[in-house]
Amino acid sequence: MRAATASVAAEVEDLRRRYGAREALAGVSFRVARGEIFGLLGPNGSGKTTLFKILATLLPATGGRVRLLGLDPAREARAIRRRLGVVFQHPGLDPKLTVLENLRHHGHLFGMRGRALAGRALALLGGLGLDDRAHERVETLSGGLARRVELAKALLPRPELLVLDEPSTGLDPGARRGFVAHLDRLRREDGVTVLLTTHLLEEAERCDRVGILDQGRLVALDTPGALKERVGGDVVVVHARDPEALRAGMRNKLGREPALVDGLLRLEHPRAPELVREVMEAFEDEVIAVSFGKPTIEDVFIRLTGRRLREGGPA
Ligand code: ADP
Repeated sequence: MRAATASVAAEVEDLRRRYGAREALAGVSFRVARGEIFGLLGPNGSGKTTLFKILATLLPATGGRVRLLGLDPAREARAIRRRLGVVFQHPGLDPKLTVLENLRHHGHLFGMRGRALAGRALALLGGLGLDDRAHERVETLSGGLARRVELAKALLPRPELLVLDEPSTGLDPGARRGFVAHLDRLRREDGVTVLLTTHLLEEAERCDRVGILDQGRLVALDTPGALKERVGGDVVVVHARDPEALRAGMRNKLGREPALVDGLLRLEHPRAPELVREVMEAFEDEVIAVSFGKPTIEDVFIRLTGRRLREGGPA
């Protein structure tokens, strides 16, 4: 029992959070193993920020059970916070101070001092590719570099558990990849557990496991590969002049049942090119464009909810 508890970094069971009459979290349960990179993916309003705040010990639950590093945040928040690193969506750095000054201030809050503090700060900056930025003011850094400084700051007191709210929002794709690569190294080299929220598919794809939130509920939880295997083969998306009419036509003529999501028809098929040929032969005049590909986690979300993760985003 003890060993099992020691290997779990975070655990929530039937977690609930109400804001007045609104239930932002309606009974969420999962466990995160030590050393795992765990992503919580969901559209706006699904409860990600609420869950992040509870996992960061900043907001109490209104029902259910939470354990962080084996401790209860309702009674032992101080002990948890000493072992926890938190990265917020909004910048938590002083733009007028240099990178190193920001880290020093943060270290002081954790009782770190002098040479040990400076050594740890410089080592972290080195590991994050920021050695040459230590004496630059934060306001002069690009978004990607500033995000890495945030990560360095959170890592300074050697947290066992890192909780990050949408960590790579606002970063360009290159910076995003770099950031996730750093998280992966932290996990491998220091055994840090990472819990992050995201609405970005590519960020979710790089997690060990992903929990998909929708309207305050966890609708799926698995590795990205296993989630995608739930979708039957390739995904074909058809942009039609009259989607309802084409949907009926596909049903009657081809015996297929496309889903209509955000104005686009979507079908799953083991071999997309065969289906595309079949559709084009029967309905060439009605089709504006067809695309197909291997399933993404968004396809899993659509299959589970009938909606897109980001309404109106690219197909
Ligand atoms: P997400 O981060 O996925 O966008 P949130 O956790 O911010 O989701 O919100 C979940 C739900 O709770 C939404 O319906 C939101 O409007 C509601 N909510 C969030 N914070 C508050 C609050 N302080 N007061 C009232 N409702 C809130």
